[in-house]
Amino acid sequence: MDIVWKGNQHTNSSPRNGIVPFVIVNHISTGTMSSMDNWFIDPGNQVSSAHFGVARDGRIHQYVAVDRMAWANGIPQSQFARATAQVVHDMNMNPNLYTVSIEHEGTNGDLTEAQFQSSVWLHRHIRKIIRDTWQRDFPLDTYHVLGHYQINPVQKPDCPGPKFPWARLYQTLAEPEIGDEEMEELLARLTALEAQKAQLEARVAALEAVEHLPGIPEWAQEAVNKAVAQGLIDTPQGGSFDFYRFLTILNRKGLLG
Ligand SMILES: [Zn+2]
Repeated sequence: MDIVWKGNQHTNSSPRNGIVPFVIVNHISTGTMSSMDNWFIDPGNQVSSAHFGVARDGRIHQYVAVDRMAWANGIPQSQFARATAQVVHDMNMNPNLYTVSIEHEGTNGDLTEAQFQSSVWLHRHIRKIIRDTWQRDFPLDTYHVLGHYQINPVQKPDCPGPKFPWARLYQTLAEPEIGDEEMEELLARLTALEAQKAQLEARVAALEAVEHLPGIPEWAQEAVNKAVAQGLIDTPQGGSFDFYRFLTILNRKGLLG
């Protein structure tokens, strides 16, 4: 899957101050993808940003690098107590410092199938970036994958929207992940197995042909005729491949007259 970089020098972001991110927060943009793109690079925007945006057709845009904090989940310290996400209480600091944010194009969280699949991929991709960058891993569960409303229930109760597919998202994220490399390896093994199968089938077919010769093969006819004429054999039908080959060799060596 491709991520297209859209952020510019006006996109809001700040250092993480040494805090390693380990929480993913889902948002709804309440607008189109192009308005999201424009807003996050607008010099007039001094208030918000997000790391990623997922369009309804499945495209993924990036505005802020994961090793910097986006301005997506900020709340004053006085509102920490109202957050329903446990991690806000456990961390007790600006949530932007330890979160990565995904915006979704739309209004009520009713994601398209392409958008859902891209979002699932992106959640796993973010986890991988964090693992590769900071050697920190975390499960994609209800503690580490949130909606904006769980951090800011006061101002953002409808983000990412009442129709956001939470149950399906958690269920899908809990399924074992097959990475690109692993998938290539599996496909290569499958191809090798199919080639082996074709070879085995060819051998079986050859063996069956040998064991069930319906009559005298054309190439052995002359040798069989000579063997019968010489009184060497009296029942030429129903021989095996090896029997006919043996007669043919004798004939070529001139031993059948
Ligand atoms: Zn939000």
